[in-house]
Amino acid sequence: MTSRYGASRADVEALLAEWGEPRYRAEQVWEALYRPVPLEEATALPRALRERLAEALPLELLSVVEATAADGLTTKWLWGAGPDAAQVETVLMRSRDRASVCVSSQAGCAMACSFCATGQAGLERHLTSGEIVEQVIRAAHASPQRVSNVVYMGMGEPLANYDAVWESVERLHGDFGLSARRITISTVGVVPGMRRLATEALPVTLAVSLHAADDDLRTSLVPLNHRYPIADVLDAAAEVAGARGRRVTFEYACIAGVNDGVDQAQALGRLLTAWPGAGGAHVNLIPLNPTAGYGGHATDRNRLRDFAAALAARGVNATVRRTRGVDIDAACGQLRARGAIPGEATGSATMVP
Ligand code: SF4
Repeated sequence: MTSRYGASRADVEALLAEWGEPRYRAEQVWEALYRPVPLEEATALPRALRERLAEALPLELLSVVEATAADGLTTKWLWGAGPDAAQVETVLMRSRDRASVCVSSQAGCAMACSFCATGQAGLERHLTSGEIVEQVIRAAHASPQRVSNVVYMGMGEPLANYDAVWESVERLHGDFGLSARRITISTVGVVPGMRRLATEALPVTLAVSLHAADDDLRTSLVPLNHRYPIADVLDAAAEVAGARGRRVTFEYACIAGVNDGVDQAQALGRLLTAWPGAGGAHVNLIPLNPTAGYGGHATDRNRLRDFAAALAARGVNATVRRTRGVDIDAACGQLRARGAIPGEATGSATMVP
């Protein structure tokens, strides 16, 4: 049996043909699956057919925890995914007229970034494309606003699960109707995956998590830097930026006293001024999400302003991102660490609201 979002269009056509349904039904059903209302409420389809479909094409994500922040705008789910109930998280971030969804691409993560709850737990398994797509559709069903952006910044390193991630991107673009530029894939610098991304036809946005301007510090925060140092990551990022006008942003989790000094901003500015990527570099500064398991703290507002000003003085644009959903542990891996796996260390991550 295939799942509701693991099923291809051909799978749905074959199923309906087997049931003796008229040919036009397949198109109707396919469209209903990708609309912002659950299949059970898709009244364009006969009730008996909806019930039969719901049974034949089950959902794969079982809600374990659902939490909404005090502002009512950020909702986070911890799901049990698939037959092994692998624990993954999804965050819905709403504004007045649109919504963004932050999806996980793996259950756990092998990258072991020192400040990240997910990384500290290790990799459980890759998610399938259907499990990734379902996160977006389920969040869209819960959102009064249209989902206009999807960011692959939840649990896992998307480029370490390239095939499933790319298949989900194609489906979110082709079937759910998202603009490719409004799909952002985040990486801590998996250089071969970045180079592969540069060859794809869909111009998705790439977010490169840098977090430091020198290799020693970056390796201590992001161990993958040992294999793919900053110079290689920036080269690959330039290749992506040069291909079909893709947008590339640099993410920088600001940790008080670790990577947030003005001298470090100046070093980052020097690096990025020399970066040959089309359109110049843009940096998102993200105060580290507070968590119990990592000793670091978020940089305060004044220091963030000084950091951004030091970048601006070198001609590098920076945006200070708000952290959202702190009261519901909205950074990746936090809910899973806190609620479902007793004794697991907690940390924080790079999710950008
Ligand atoms: S920050 Fe991202 S890449 Fe690093 S361990 Fe966490 S989930 Fe993995």
